[in-house]
Amino acid sequence: MSLRPTLDFLLYQWLGVESLTSRERFADHSRDTFDAVLDTCERIARDKYAPFNRLVDTQEPHFDGDKVILPQATHDAQKAYADSGMLSAAQDYAIGGMQLPYTLEASGNAFFAMASVSIGSGMLTTGNANLLMQHGTEAQKRVFALNEFSGRWSGTMCLSEPQAGSSLSDVMTRAVPDGDGFETDPLGPRYRLTGNKMWISAGEHELTENIVHLVLAKIPDDNGKLVPGTRGISLFVVPKKLVDVNGQLTGERNDVALAGLNHKCGWRGTTNTLLNFGEGKFPVKGQAGAVGYLVGQPGKGLHCMFHMMNEARIGVGMAATMLGLAGYHASLEYAKNRPQGRAVGPAGKDASAPQIRIIEHADVKRMLLAQKAYCEGALALELYCARLVDEQHTGTPEAADEARLLLEVLTPIAKSWPSEWCLEANSLAIQVHGGYGYTRDFPVEQYWRDNRLNMIHEGTHGIQATDLLGRKVLMDNGRGLQLLAARINDTVQRGIQQPALAAHANALAAALQRVGAATKAAWATGNPAEALANAVPYMQAFGHTVMAWIWLDVALAALNHDAAQTQPTTLGRLAATRYFFHYELPKIAGWLPVVESRDATCAELPEAAF
Ligand SMILES: Cc1cc2nc3c(=O)[nH]c(=O)nc-3n(C[C@H](O)[C@H](O)[C@H](O)COP(=O)(O)OP(=O)(O)OC[C@H]3O[C@@H](n4cnc5c(N)ncnc54)[C@H](O)[C@@H]3O)c2cc1C
Repeated sequence: MSLRPTLDFLLYQWLGVESLTSRERFADHSRDTFDAVLDTCERIARDKYAPFNRLVDTQEPHFDGDKVILPQATHDAQKAYADSGMLSAAQDYAIGGMQLPYTLEASGNAFFAMASVSIGSGMLTTGNANLLMQHGTEAQKRVFALNEFSGRWSGTMCLSEPQAGSSLSDVMTRAVPDGDGFETDPLGPRYRLTGNKMWISAGEHELTENIVHLVLAKIPDDNGKLVPGTRGISLFVVPKKLVDVNGQLTGERNDVALAGLNHKCGWRGTTNTLLNFGEGKFPVKGQAGAVGYLVGQPGKGLHCMFHMMNEARIGVGMAATMLGLAGYHASLEYAKNRPQGRAVGPAGKDASAPQIRIIEHADVKRMLLAQKAYCEGALALELYCARLVDEQHTGTPEAADEARLLLEVLTPIAKSWPSEWCLEANSLAIQVHGGYGYTRDFPVEQYWRDNRLNMIHEGTHGIQATDLLGRKVLMDNGRGLQLLAARINDTVQRGIQQPALAAHANALAAALQRVGAATKAAWATGNPAEALANAVPYMQAFGHTVMAWIWLDVALAALNHDAAQTQPTTLGRLAATRYFFHYELPKIAGWLPVVESRDATCAELPEAAF
């Protein structure tokens, strides 16, 4: 089973991405060039990624005392990826990019995430370089970003510390000016950093000539104290190996040392590291302290980092989606071939009849359709968000602003909904396999382990929920929420015209109204502690409403394309829509009452009672 027909339908029939080629930035592109990119990604993912997914899981990265060792397959896959030009797919021609819409870049990357998410396809490197293109100096762009886009160097994102994960305001890494003339370094104001960064993905390896760390740290005030809160956080570019202004290695190692590798539940093909900055293991000019160059303004580090984090969150949602789809495809294949049990007729079972394949049991069909509804729905949502990114970058000022606000509201859902529900899909994929699914002889347990990360990193589930209810639905006096409601209502109006979809459209309208009322009720006392105590159930209901909208909209496109419903793919899309409206959307009635009543069952329970 291939991802491609689903992707093609969503891109061309549903989102109409071909129309982007009428915009100046994409004028050289056509359906042919888009297809060629997808073909290339599909081929590399099939040849260089998929065959090694289990290998990178079993041959975890290890440290030989000098270097971190990864399987040769990882080197080969990442080289093939870099050679394909995908690291700079969306960049300008002038710097070697393809000026591809982000929607196409994200679609191409989907193949790699599905084939082997943990071999990695450069999401961090691209995000790191994009951030520098946005906030860096000309020299930082030329030296660091361009060498990342070419694949010569790779990038990381160093936010977390052992004591500061969700609460980044508590980071303790310090950055002090590096001697006289520190401000005039051609690579940016030069500082010395000291501190520990925990959980840093791809923080140490030999896959590339150099590693470009983007590090959050605080510049102490005149009394040597760190400014509390996020206001005090600045951003620094800290190369593993020092470089000159021409982008050549100076031959000197920077004072960034691997303190240890983390041994993970899944996603084992990517190193995950504890890094010590400035402990003196690799003194620079005889002095401890990692050399870092300020990016943007002092105290604005988190603002710059958010640029990277929003992209990263769509990337995380896409990765969760693709792992879900990988499990769906594997379990569908298994269910078509596994004979077990007999059909139940009006007179019960006939023990003398031959066994049937498990795909013929209603409950197995339920588990397969649930996976399809979760994962293909999530794919549509991620592509919708990617299309908004293109609108934000290339639309009219009005459309761009609307896309920006919609993205603000949808990003927590794009990150969290697939992390929760495509993980549930992976659990169902194991269930479809029965006992075999619980062994390492089949791939589905690995998909589940790999996917379990996604509710944790890039802002945990709880933090995303707080962001949604505490900030995003309120910002600009609720304008983002109103814009989303207008789009949902537009789909509802079109849905009502279609007899096959009218009941779903009415159910969606009611759900939207209920979510709106719950938002108001949560904030009725204006007390954040009360409003946010049930932010996760709120986000679940919000997410399910968004997904119901996405499915209704996809179903409308499917009918538009094939009104007679002659194609099995159309029947499948309509069935997934129906599944979502019959089995999933009603769940919001279970989630929202605690939000509406600001239920304090959990919040007020004293510790001793646990
Ligand atoms: C495999 C992996 C890769 C990672 N890669 C990177 C990376 O490349 N770069 C990087 O900087 N970081 C990375 N991280 C770190 C990741 O972003 C953090 O783990 C995450 O932000 C959570 O921080 P924490 O682990 O300290 O958990 P904590 O913040 O301690 O959270 C523990 C629990 O408490 C909850 N909680 C915490 N605060 C609140 C609150 N205010 N309200 C409600 N609930 C709360 C959380 O939701 C969570 O359930 C990675 C993590 C992992 C596991």
